[in-house]
Amino acid sequence: MVKDKKNWKEIRSQVKDFVENEVYPAEKILSKRDDEAKKKMQELMQLAKNKSLWALGHPKDIGGQGMPFMEYVYINEVIGRSESAMVALGTHSLQDSIMLREFASKTWRDKYLKPLVNGEIFPSFGMTEPDVASSDPTQLKTSAQLEGNEWVINGKKWFTSGAAGAAYTTVMCRTEMDVPSHGAFSMIIVPTDNPGYKIIRETPVLGMIGGHGGHYEVEYDNVRVPEENLLGPRGQGFIIAQRRLGPGRIFHCMRWLGQAQRAFDLMCRRLHEREAFGTLLAEKQLMQKFVFDSTCEIQASRQLTLDAAKRIDKGDDARIEIGLIKVVGAQMVHNVIDRAIQVYGAKGLTDDTPLSAMYRHAREARIYDGPDEVHIQSVARRILKNYQDNGSGWDFGERDAYLETN
Ligand SMILES: Cc1cc2nc3c(=O)[nH]c(=O)nc-3n(C[C@H](O)[C@H](O)[C@H](O)COP(=O)(O)OP(=O)(O)OC[C@H]3O[C@@H](n4cnc5c(N)ncnc54)[C@H](O)[C@@H]3O)c2cc1C
Repeated sequence: MVKDKKNWKEIRSQVKDFVENEVYPAEKILSKRDDEAKKKMQELMQLAKNKSLWALGHPKDIGGQGMPFMEYVYINEVIGRSESAMVALGTHSLQDSIMLREFASKTWRDKYLKPLVNGEIFPSFGMTEPDVASSDPTQLKTSAQLEGNEWVINGKKWFTSGAAGAAYTTVMCRTEMDVPSHGAFSMIIVPTDNPGYKIIRETPVLGMIGGHGGHYEVEYDNVRVPEENLLGPRGQGFIIAQRRLGPGRIFHCMRWLGQAQRAFDLMCRRLHEREAFGTLLAEKQLMQKFVFDSTCEIQASRQLTLDAAKRIDKGDDARIEIGLIKVVGAQMVHNVIDRAIQVYGAKGLTDDTPLSAMYRHAREARIYDGPDEVHIQSVARRILKNYQDNGSGWDFGERDAYLETN
């Protein structure tokens, strides 16, 4: 257990060294999907274990290091600097292993938890479907019906990240017919070697395939799995999904801050190296505006994220604050990387710097885990509700007081 502040700061600094000195130099190799990439990733994973940096945030009882939530929040900021670092440091499975630990039957906890946390197997999550607007998951069509003691699953999902390399997919299915939509869905574990689990294709995203992920379209063709593959009680899919996503969004946002920091460093260094029209780029006011705007956005996003994290740490569900940071963070990382690319000129668009890949990943952030507009709608509705029928309103000062008094 990481006990005092000095200690977690030391760990943060070790993780930063690991990411910068071990993961950055391997990124080109890791971006391919060949044997060399797999071997390199295995080497990095082993090195992280040797340095005691593996699975820092996973609970101790499932093989992690049990780092307290608020300390682990800051670790994500340095892990986030490289897309590959999550897997190299064994943090990629955190959301899924916590979900299994809390909701899976003993059979599946025994079978998957240890190898999952140890990085021997990979999880995947199947909610989004090609044929319905999955921003509104009450429309999902994939169904699971109980026949005897087996679930029979039929439907089609896409954007199941990492499906081809995963041991299983946790699939969101409609299991209840005559109840309101939010109680009609359940999550069911489907091992990817099930004969009815058919990968149809990989969908390249903004021209990218490769790396350890990949996004897959999957057909569920009369998939039969035991009844005990259900996570939690029937009809609780949305509740479990919310539990999976809440703290996960804080970690996402901290990792985006890591990406933004990397782009910001690259941008500021480049401004001191490049000269045009008789002066360094650093001396041009328009370039200085890039530095100013990026500083404002990073600082604002960071403070909002830490505020949301502190609320979660104190037991609040922080639904509004998490909605805010998902939108502000995704736009911030996109804007900062975009400015860094502009500063690099044509070179920024090539693969000679990491910016081009970082930019493409940043664009995804405004869509996955709910598009911006869905979070904007949900935050605004929650706030407006407080003003309905002469309600108490939304007092920003009082929200702050919550943190001070709890
Ligand atoms: C890189 C990446 C990885 C992903 N990984 C996974 C994964 O592992 N598993 C998984 O299940 N899914 C995954 N997804 C899918 C992702 O969660 C969905 O794309 C997302 O929930 C949106 O659903 P949709 O694509 O069907 O968009 P739609 O629901 O069709 O929405 C399209 C657009 O409509 C607009 N819109 C929607 N609702 C509203 C509203 N209320 N008000 C105003 N405008 C609105 C938004 O602009 C939105 O972008 C991933 C996506 C990406 C990009």
